Amino acid sequence: KQPNGKYLVSLIEGDGIGPEISQSVKDIYSAANVPIDWEPVDVTPVLVDGKTAIPQPAIDSIKRNLVALKGPLATPIGKGHVSLNLTLRRTFNLFANVRPCKSIVGYKTPYDGVDTVLIRENTEGEYSGIEHHVVDGVVQSIKLITRDASERVLKYAFQYANAVGKQKVRVVHKATIMKQSDGLFLEIGKELAKQYPEIQFDYELLDNTCLNMVTDPTPYNDKVLVMPNLYGDILSDMCAGLIGGLGLTPSGNIGDKCSIFEAVHGSAPDIAGKALANPTALLFSSIMMLQHMGLNEHATKIQKAIFDTLAEGKYLTGDLGGSAKTHEYAQAIIDKL
Ligand code: NAD
Repeated sequence: KQPNGKYLVSLIEGDGIGPEISQSVKDIYSAANVPIDWEPVDVTPVLVDGKTAIPQPAIDSIKRNLVALKGPLATPIGKGHVSLNLTLRRTFNLFANVRPCKSIVGYKTPYDGVDTVLIRENTEGEYSGIEHHVVDGVVQSIKLITRDASERVLKYAFQYANAVGKQKVRVVHKATIMKQSDGLFLEIGKELAKQYPEIQFDYELLDNTCLNMVTDPTPYNDKVLVMPNLYGDILSDMCAGLIGGLGLTPSGNIGDKCSIFEAVHGSAPDIAGKALANPTALLFSSIMMLQHMGLNEHATKIQKAIFDTLAEGKYLTGDLGGSAKTHEYAQAIIDKL
């Protein structure tokens, strides 16, 4: 918090549609008198000892402010480029990726009343980046699972369930096949469950979860699902599909000190610069951020204005079947405020 009573939050506008959707957030926050000043942060990567790194001023800003809102960052394809998103997660030890998916009234999808929350381990598993060329035609990729990383993400899942009033925590796994790695993750879940007797704990095989969710997602509404990295990456996009796609799904990357909130979608280069982007996912991410900061009144007020605008359906962006430009949709939300 600054002497003027406002919180300073780092803002990474990002690439492609990033600046357009960030502008919507800034306009809506200013209209809603949210006590936040944005500190713009440039994360254009620098090379340190031949490795992709986040520029030091960006690291300092996020470390100082503890909270950041982030637009999408494009990952160049090709050798030598490390994903900046991965670098950010490693730099700030963002160990848990929280991805809620809630049906939007007024936007019809095959299922009504979806309200899932998925927590993905964010630092290891198949994404540890340990790969070897063994001999020609043979490569090896190592899935790393540690007690420390598993414990902190599972603990967070129980705490999150308590905080948001979900009654159950479910581990999604493949311990039948990956007996040691997923086996350890699951065992730690079982151990920790004893410390949270108020939460019901169980576990399910990933393939069953996929089948059951697309058959009927509503039995998942009272659960927090928690799982190793790769499963969470894939299953969360499937959940996004249940509620209408990437334009609507937010996420929070939670660390032990800093947290970064971002939309699940990428930089959408196909529609960048045309005012066609839907800012809802970034807006919902910013609402998770407000709740994380304890600014619940502002979160509820803005969330209601977004839901009302979507339910009314007069100003929807193209991905939702409407013809409103990004700023026209944002203005409709401001009018509701
Ligand atoms: P993408 O999510 O950018 O786009 C997929 C499709 O969804 C496109 O047709 C796009 O127009 C549409 N879309 C996405 N967001 C939208 C929005 N807010 N409103 C309306 N339509 C939207 O995925 P991609 O094309 O595979 O990736 C593009 C770049 O983004 C790549 O460089 C990728 O590495 C990067 N990326 C970054 C992140 C991140 O920063 N967290 C996540 C995913 C991808």
